[in-house]
Amino acid sequence: MSTDVSADRIPIKLRAEALEQLLVERGLVDPNVMDSFIKTYEKDVGPLNGAKVVAKAWTDPEFKARLLENGTTAVAELGFKGPQGEHIVVVENTDTVHNVVVCTLCSCYPWPLLGLPPTWYKDPAYRARVVKEPRTVLAEMGLTLPESTEVTVWDSSSEVRFFVLPQRPAASEGMSEEELVAIVSRDAMVGVAVVGA
Ligand code: FE
Repeated sequence: MSTDVSADRIPIKLRAEALEQLLVERGLVDPNVMDSFIKTYEKDVGPLNGAKVVAKAWTDPEFKARLLENGTTAVAELGFKGPQGEHIVVVENTDTVHNVVVCTLCSCYPWPLLGLPPTWYKDPAYRARVVKEPRTVLAEMGLTLPESTEVTVWDSSSEVRFFVLPQRPAASEGMSEEELVAIVSRDAMVGVAVVGA
């Protein structure tokens, strides 16, 4: 009797645990360091950093220019940097272009700005389909875009982490930077939603 042990039949959680165990056994990884690292990005760093970047870009045209020119150095001005944030490229939504981000290979994501990626971002279906049929996927996620809007999909990788600068809603005119931070959602900064005021 043959037993099928091909890796794709083993649940990913078990595979990750086996890999972790191996790395720990060989002394390549300290489990305490790994746990504290994950905890930091799960609990302490979240989408709030990204929302602060967006609110500043909406209220400070010079910062916005620097942000679009070099995302990494501009967000570092606000103190946001670290692992998975070394090469941040910011793409701006406009009346005519809507940007959406994916990592087709795995789950590359700008950690210092958004924390850890949500489950749907890591889902093979999202990763495969948003490239081929972005409008359909976005509509399924609750965002229906006008036909006249061009949809651009950006594939993040270990080299480049894309970040969407959403459009500022007209109704937010007069809001303070602090108030603006509160209306910017994580999903809008990945491009699967827009910001409503
Ligand atoms: Fe990835």
